[in-house]
Amino acid sequence: MYLSQQLKRLALLVTAAMALGWLLGYPFVALSLALLTLLAKSIYQQQRLLHWLKKDDGSEVPEASGSWEDIYDSLYHRLKGHRQREAQLKSVIDRIQESTQALRDGVVMIDSNGEIDWWNRAATRMLGLKRPDDVGQAITNLIRDPRFIRYFDQRDYTDPLELPATANRQLQLQFTLTEFGRSERLMLIRDVSRLHALERMRRDFVGNASHELRTPLTVIRGYLETLQDQCDELPLFKRALLQMEGQAKRMGSLVNDMLMLTRLETTDSLLDSSPVDVGQLLREVHGEAQLLAQERGHQITLEIDERYLLMGQERELFSAFSNLVMNAIKYTPDAGTIRVNWWVDDQGGHFSVSDSGIGIDAHHISRLTERFYRVDDGRSRAQGGTGLGLAIVKHVLIRHAARLEVDSTPNVGSTFSCHFPAHQLRPLEQSSAG
Ligand code: ADP
Repeated sequence: MYLSQQLKRLALLVTAAMALGWLLGYPFVALSLALLTLLAKSIYQQQRLLHWLKKDDGSEVPEASGSWEDIYDSLYHRLKGHRQREAQLKSVIDRIQESTQALRDGVVMIDSNGEIDWWNRAATRMLGLKRPDDVGQAITNLIRDPRFIRYFDQRDYTDPLELPATANRQLQLQFTLTEFGRSERLMLIRDVSRLHALERMRRDFVGNASHELRTPLTVIRGYLETLQDQCDELPLFKRALLQMEGQAKRMGSLVNDMLMLTRLETTDSLLDSSPVDVGQLLREVHGEAQLLAQERGHQITLEIDERYLLMGQERELFSAFSNLVMNAIKYTPDAGTIRVNWWVDDQGGHFSVSDSGIGIDAHHISRLTERFYRVDDGRSRAQGGTGLGLAIVKHVLIRHAARLEVDSTPNVGSTFSCHFPAHQLRPLEQSSAG
């Protein structure tokens, strides 16, 4: 009802009350009574409205007249719209929950305190969760593997984590976490047991095949040596045998590298680590490299920070450092310079090999640690490379929680650095005292 209509009604009431009052001789008493009646009606409607609002049971709007009818109507329409939107939202949420329930992958929602909020059926099966006991439990109480706890707490979820399931060790699970909202986390769990088994079969096959090739190769190499001694008079045969011996040696290196890689791939972390004297290790690597370097006229310098020992596996570290130094020698034209450094700072321990060699184009760098990836196939083979050296380096570093960095400029040189975390270091005095 418009304001003008309301004013008109009020004016009519006042006039009628005054007229009646005037006829009876009490115009102002009549006016006051009329206005009091209007006020009482208004208070009554107000109370009805409050009562109806408080009930909030979706009941029909109470009957009213005049401007109160308009108020009731507009309130009712608003409430109706609100309820419809609420119902729509609820049905969307129900549909999302239903589809998430039906997913084959496990889904767990974790609140900002790291406690479980909700999970789907697949997660129940994979993690053995129970409702309602596990609602509100800390996820790290249910998955107690230290690798999971470290992964969960570090809040860097770029790479997924693979672990055997606690409830069933045959099950291999892949965990991926995503942060959302206010520090809440969504955890996706995939059953990768089949992929894992296939990967293990592949690894076993390569390992077994390499192992099987070892004995025939040793026999062939033995005969080739004997035959060479007998062929002094036959230069053609001698040359052929020499080449055959070279190829057999190459095959031997390949088989050894493949075996080493298979062993390294079996686990991503070290089970047996002990303090390694990196200075001593590098002097050994330097000694072995020196022979080849001298042949090529290279100058190798060694700078070592002797204050700390590195926790790790000595033979693996030797293999990684030696591969990097040998590569520097192989891929640096004669009479080059090679600098080998080991130093410790707040960030951790660092090993680096810099050479004045052929360098590597930027677009190759991300692929260098792939098996058999070579920038120049011919050059690598001519240098006796197996194409597996940097893949070995990568796996040794993964097992030592370290990372590889490659910095290179074509025709200027390359620097390969290995960065070890500070928690892998032990001060020398403390280790010798203990
Ligand atoms: P390879 O046995 O062929 O040396 P690696 O895995 O050790 O295999 O190295 C892969 C490739 O990376 C090499 O073929 C080479 O092209 C390149 N590379 C490695 N180290 C260096 C280096 N210091 N300078 C230039 N290129 C390098």
